[in-house]
Amino acid sequence: MSLIVDPRNVPAEGLQLTGTLPKSVLDLPETDIARATSPLEYDLLVMRDTNDLILAGKLSASFELQCGRCTEMYAQRVDLEHYGQSIEIENDSPIDLTTTLREDILLALPTQPRCETGNVSPRECPAEGRFELAPDSAEPVPQEQDRPDVWGTLDQLTNLKRN
Ligand SMILES: [Zn+2]
Repeated sequence: MSLIVDPRNVPAEGLQLTGTLPKSVLDLPETDIARATSPLEYDLLVMRDTNDLILAGKLSASFELQCGRCTEMYAQRVDLEHYGQSIEIENDSPIDLTTTLREDILLALPTQPRCETGNVSPRECPAEGRFELAPDSAEPVPQEQDRPDVWGTLDQLTNLKRN
């Protein structure tokens, strides 16, 4: 299944392309944390600008992503309402848009999926607060005296074992 455009056949007013690509084109390796749950829908105007194909329109697809915190899958919809892209034309050869559309919609997925930011049915992440905040988070850095005395605790444990 592909979406091939021949640059020589693109009229001056552009070529309207509307349809879907099967969700299998969005397939990712089994180990990946994202899975397409719908076809990739496109509604594009394709124009030719000398040596480039210009795409403009909409792209959308639904995914299941694995939350980075609770590791559960959650639904995420990607809607690119103002999608735009240009693809270089080489020797007037036909261009398969599938790869470009696939990559662009996958790039729109969150890089750090979190179920509470899901845009289909957001929820409170069940793992919220279960882990320490990452050092680069926006939380204020704890003052020195607030930090647990790790070495002191270790010493106490060592003493307990000795006794
Ligand atoms: Zn979660």
